[in-house]
Amino acid sequence: MEVLFMGSDQRAVRCARVSFGKDDKVDPQRDKKLIRYLIKHKHASPFEHNIVAVKGSKDLWLSLLEKAQNPTVQIYYSGGYLWMNLRTAINIMELLPEEVSSCIEERFPTCWAVAKRGGDLEDKELEDLRYTTDRIFLQEKIETSAGWVGLVDRLELGTEMDYYTFIVECPLFVARQWHRHRFGSYNEISRRYTSYDVKFYIPTILRKQAKSNKQASVDEPIEEPDHGRFLREIKDLTGRCYALYEEMTQKGVAKEIARGILPQFMKTRYYWTVPRISLDNFITLRTHEGAQKEIRELAEAIRELAGYRGTDRRNRL
Ligand SMILES: Cc1cc2nc3c(=O)[nH]c(=O)nc-3n(C[C@H](O)[C@H](O)[C@H](O)COP(=O)(O)OP(=O)(O)OC[C@H]3O[C@@H](n4cnc5c(N)ncnc54)[C@H](O)[C@@H]3O)c2cc1C
Repeated sequence: MEVLFMGSDQRAVRCARVSFGKDDKVDPQRDKKLIRYLIKHKHASPFEHNIVAVKGSKDLWLSLLEKAQNPTVQIYYSGGYLWMNLRTAINIMELLPEEVSSCIEERFPTCWAVAKRGGDLEDKELEDLRYTTDRIFLQEKIETSAGWVGLVDRLELGTEMDYYTFIVECPLFVARQWHRHRFGSYNEISRRYTSYDVKFYIPTILRKQAKSNKQASVDEPIEEPDHGRFLREIKDLTGRCYALYEEMTQKGVAKEIARGILPQFMKTRYYWTVPRISLDNFITLRTHEGAQKEIRELAEAIRELAGYRGTDRRNRL
């Protein structure tokens, strides 16, 4: 049976460690303990960034869905493949054909072995497990005025469910728009955990409000001297907010509450794993002239990195 993959044991760890802003760190022994922790405490979303495609019949697909009897199990059928992420595969591990689970075990040896035991492994047993890692951190990266986007990986089989993983860094207000695209998986830096590497997007131009569209802007600055004064005030206020945040955290205020003072210009960073059909929907909607300039530039960068097939055009609504 043909089984194809995107990701590695380490990918799940990276997507978990982005919470701390430490996703570029590699330490297999600590990584394995983190996998055990994630499984034991049911922090399963990082496993969604590992993808499994199984060449198989519609009957196999339907029988797995029927046997799973769990409405949260998400298996898709596209281009003659059953598509699922590692979280789903773990949830239905006892239902998978033996040749499929042995391929999954080969690709994600630590995740699979730890999941099989529900996280109940001693340190020594963990040490003996094989551990798979990513070949590279980022394949390609594009900077925009408000942030950057990098392609981590792709699994392209010419179907609507081909999968892509990106890292995105953007201001909070762009991330809120992005996260409305629900058909995909996200893991994001958590300002409850870390005050590491706080950065802000300071625009260079304060665009005018559009007259024809209540939510849009026109690509020209407001008049001087207000333009210059507002920009100076934005820089000054952002700096003061950050200084107060630092002082509060240094004097013992919990990060989860101190962060409330940080403005929407603050940047966040997340992993986004998305199927082609949803990626194309994102590109259609967010490269459109009606989308906000900052997200439009990032969506154009995504299109440059991963192309656009217009698969979403078959969506009726
Ligand atoms: C210019 C612009 C302005 C916007 N303004 C606002 C706004 O003012 N307020 C606001 O709240 N949002 C706003 N949005 C967000 C918008 O409503 C969508 O949430 C966002 O674009 C994600 O699109 P989607 O639902 O198609 O994508 P996904 O969530 O990725 O869904 C992909 C596809 O899956 C299907 N689908 C997903 N979930 C469901 C479901 N629960 N039921 C049925 N089908 C489903 C649909 O076919 C959908 O197209 C705006 C978006 C744009 C582009």
